[in-house]
Amino acid sequence: MVNGAWQEFGKVFGRGAGRGGLFNECWIFVNDNFISNTLEKGYYQVRIDMSEKGEITFRGIPASGGVCRGRVFVFGTRQLHVPYRDIPEEDVAAELKRLEQALIITRKQLKEMHQSLRERVGSHDADIFEAHLLVLDDPALIGEATKLVKSTMCNVEHAYHEVSEKYAQAFDSMEDEYLRERAVDLRDVSHRLLNNLMGQDDHDHLYALSEPSIVVGHDLTPSTTAMLDRSMVLGFATDVGSKTSHTAILARALKIPAVVGFHDISKRLENDQTVLLDGHSGLVILNPSDQTLFEYGHVIRRHEDKEARLAKLREMPAVTLDGFQVALEANLDQPSESEDVMKFGADGVGLFRSEYLFLNRSHWPEEKIQAEVYAEVASKLAPKPVVIRTLDLGADKLSSLTKSGVESNPALGWRAIRFCLDNEGIFKMQLRAILRASTQGNLRIMFPMITSMSELDRALELLETCKRELAEEGVAFDEHIETGIMIETPSAVMVADDLASKVKFFSIGTNDLIQYGLAVDRTNDRIAHLYEPTAPSIVRSIKQTTKAAHAAGIRVGVCGEMAGEPDLVPLLLGLGVDELSASAPLVPSVKYLIRRLKLSEARELAEQAVTMRYSHEILDASRALVQRVAPEMVVNQG
Ligand code: PEP
Ligand code: MG
Repeated sequence: MVNGAWQEFGKVFGRGAGRGGLFNECWIFVNDNFISNTLEKGYYQVRIDMSEKGEITFRGIPASGGVCRGRVFVFGTRQLHVPYRDIPEEDVAAELKRLEQALIITRKQLKEMHQSLRERVGSHDADIFEAHLLVLDDPALIGEATKLVKSTMCNVEHAYHEVSEKYAQAFDSMEDEYLRERAVDLRDVSHRLLNNLMGQDDHDHLYALSEPSIVVGHDLTPSTTAMLDRSMVLGFATDVGSKTSHTAILARALKIPAVVGFHDISKRLENDQTVLLDGHSGLVILNPSDQTLFEYGHVIRRHEDKEARLAKLREMPAVTLDGFQVALEANLDQPSESEDVMKFGADGVGLFRSEYLFLNRSHWPEEKIQAEVYAEVASKLAPKPVVIRTLDLGADKLSSLTKSGVESNPALGWRAIRFCLDNEGIFKMQLRAILRASTQGNLRIMFPMITSMSELDRALELLETCKRELAEEGVAFDEHIETGIMIETPSAVMVADDLASKVKFFSIGTNDLIQYGLAVDRTNDRIAHLYEPTAPSIVRSIKQTTKAAHAAGIRVGVCGEMAGEPDLVPLLLGLGVDELSASAPLVPSVKYLIRRLKLSEARELAEQAVTMRYSHEILDASRALVQRVAPEMVVNQG
């Protein structure tokens, strides 16, 4: 068996964890040839499933809770094979007619997808299909393909493929990232047209999923994830990614079960296989047996019970047993999620990641369009506060709009406030839009990635300029709109006392603070184990920030993913955090915990934590407190 393909025979339960039942059990030794991210070298007790297809478990990083089962759809791997045929002269006209018909069908498909995406995610995110329509109708492309058919007497799919590839390769080799991305659009459109010419289904495209599926791929970018059709994508699993990559954050917000960081699952699964995906524990199980499905029935029911219990807290305040009221808010990635703020009982929006309005677009959204979006969210949630974070494009949230070119260290590169201060026109357009919308509710402005006083001074100066301009134009806005900054760089922590003198609030972006503080790329699955929220340096940075904020008399919140982890919430409150903002579906668990906690206990925990030297000590101490005050939380995890 060691020399054979063990995967075809058994499910590995782990060392010595055999079970009885209808299956044969034995020990196997896994040697170097078979080790992988799911298996270490060594002896394993396995259960051999005597049914035709054995169960295989893959282990990744849990990114978004929920369990789903369905057929696999492997995304982004299919190669296009375009045949070549000589055609007789009398067939040329018919061949060109085929092209005309394929163009009509493709145009119709693109328009339908544009429409359906508009209904789901709003008009701006659907812009990409407008750009695809322009590519499809490009007269140069059609003209050259037609000429090639006539001059070489070849079939039209071959001619069209030759011409479109020639252009795509020219884009591929360009320096400018924006132009390079046009190659992706061009191939996308031409493959669609070629599929129609060859009478093939467009199976390789996520927008064209025809039945609910579990999407498996090497990577899903945040922009692709933002456009996923919830009714067709049951869940997803990727080779790369980590818990705080934006794709994972978005999956939680969209409530799509997801597991990331498998290294190679896209190569190990095939279309139409059946899998069960467990987003709580980070597992994908191929060919789940009846026994596994039965066990998962219990897991699902346990989570449903927990959610039903938590739903009862919706109208209740997030207040500790000794009376400390926490502002518990939700993070928003798309305006459509504002319904969830109410549904999950949040006190407002602590982080509106406005950059999602700028992904998947062919041009910058005008001031008026942005103002409408901000006003809609503000008025829907008024009088609850809504903190709009100004554009944080860059790093893993790339938009072709920034034309930033290839950067060797994008997380340290031209992103967020740096991009905005270099593009004052774009930045001012956003600030003016927020100001315009500010009369419709309780809006606040927050600047991301601040590292120095001079960046903050310049951002505030531009805000004042926008206020002056609007006043001169006679446009109403909230003159006292609050401004704050994200503390997400070690540099900002070190000068937090200076920064605090200029703003009304801080919000600690722990996702980036950990990334920059520990020098661990938050999207790199290989070093995900080094990404430790309870590292002493991070815990002490948080303490230093709250101290500086309170000395200046301003509020301090946390809006990174740490705020949504009940295990870590006592630590944050004990360190002096006043406000928490988490992905909306996580708000009820955090509230449940806060309502069982005493601030005095949390402070004791934090006092010890800042003296500890190891991440695991701090994590264990925080978990021990949670275990004591809300043991059911611990049981219900996973
Ligand atoms: C953070 O860095 O913690 C944060 C909330 O911002 P983002 O995850 O969008 O970088
Ligand atoms: Mg950040």
